[in-house]
Amino acid sequence: MALQQPDRSTIWPYDERGEPGEFYYSRYAHPAGAAAERALGEREGGDALLYPSGMGAITNVLLTLARPGALIALAEGSYFGTSLLFAALAPWGVRFAEFDQRDEPPEEAAIVWVEAPANPILTLPNWDALGAHPALVVCDATVATPVYLRALDEGADVVVHSATKFLTGHHNALLGASVTRDPALTERLSELRSTAGITASPDAAQALLEGLETLDDRMRRQTASAIELAARLGAHPAVANVRYPGFSALISFDVDDPRRVETSLRVIRNATSLGGVDSTLESRHRWEGDRIPRGLLRLSVGLEPLDELWSDLERSLSR
Ligand code: PLP
Repeated sequence: MALQQPDRSTIWPYDERGEPGEFYYSRYAHPAGAAAERALGEREGGDALLYPSGMGAITNVLLTLARPGALIALAEGSYFGTSLLFAALAPWGVRFAEFDQRDEPPEEAAIVWVEAPANPILTLPNWDALGAHPALVVCDATVATPVYLRALDEGADVVVHSATKFLTGHHNALLGASVTRDPALTERLSELRSTAGITASPDAAQALLEGLETLDDRMRRQTASAIELAARLGAHPAVANVRYPGFSALISFDVDDPRRVETSLRVIRNATSLGGVDSTLESRHRWEGDRIPRGLLRLSVGLEPLDELWSDLERSLSR
């Protein structure tokens, strides 16, 4: 599917009175970005802002909310890059501790950062415990997408997405998003984003607009395949600990020799990332080390025929 060409201008002339209009310099806003933010905001029930990557979104949200020395409680087993970023910002006073998001967050936390579901451990946040805690709640809903979760409705203050994954869906755009319902918070996020220049490109925003058109159909079909594959993996003698939350298309499971399974695949791509129409599988230990089980394989189920995916897995697991 060829993307439509967005307006790539960086400037738009001031109006006849010499005043800036909605668009005047693309670091602040551009037409494709504004249209994609409206579309995503409608899906999430809030105001969306786009960033050049999921990590860009996470950085902007963190720098807007965090205060030096205040504790951030981060969901254990969630996206590795988030913990790397928090650790890298320790010299600026960012302090974090990991906790099991199925339980109550540490009392002292000023921000609780959960992931629904956590990538790659696939636990879910405990919304009741979060509701009873005074901290600000940030929910990374990359894997759930608004098809399965509207985290603002559950009580999150900020939702973040790596839109690189399911939202755009074709492994062809690097993009992030935040969504908030409090206009004052949206304004603070928007101001820091523009000042810091963490602005998404028009092409990536266009990819989101087009990805959202097919999001429901893709998620429904990818989920149907994932449910079936999780069940078949669970019954396979070479597989242990199948983790699957029952929705979306991310599964993780443990094997004795992950490298051998990865390198035997013919249909599923042995590649990083997730959420595309092409299935991907990789050992996460190469990136995350002992933070996760050594034999853990993460499978993102795409739109290929189920039987082709299962034959590929079965053959690779039996080698
Ligand atoms: N959040 C989650 C759950 C992710 O899986 C990822 C990337 O894998 C990110 C955030 C970071 O997104 P990006 O790679 O678009 O910067």
